[in-house]
Amino acid sequence: MSFGDDVDGMGDRNEFLQQLVDCDELDEIEAGIVKRVIVKGEESLTGGQKFVFKRVLDQYVTEECPRHLYRIPWGEMYDFHDSVKCCWCERHDERISRE
Ligand SMILES: [Zn+2]
Repeated sequence: MSFGDDVDGMGDRNEFLQQLVDCDELDEIEAGIVKRVIVKGEESLTGGQKFVFKRVLDQYVTEECPRHLYRIPWGEMYDFHDSVKCCWCERHDERISRE
């Protein structure tokens, strides 16, 4: 099994992958492979492509927030990568800035 199979369905994961493609952080090869997964699924990848795809996931996917042990859904994954804050971190920080 690969990471993420049981998280919130593939639709949300594909949205996250699309965000990665759109953000221009991936190189050409990575973006091509991610696009292929969105369209054809991970099982369509060959050995080397799977390795690249796994490397992308390792880089951009965080399973849970280290501060709250909150399991991050795909819908929040890209924001977490960007800000390193889960929704609980955001609430916590808002409370502090109001005080
Ligand atoms: Zn958090």
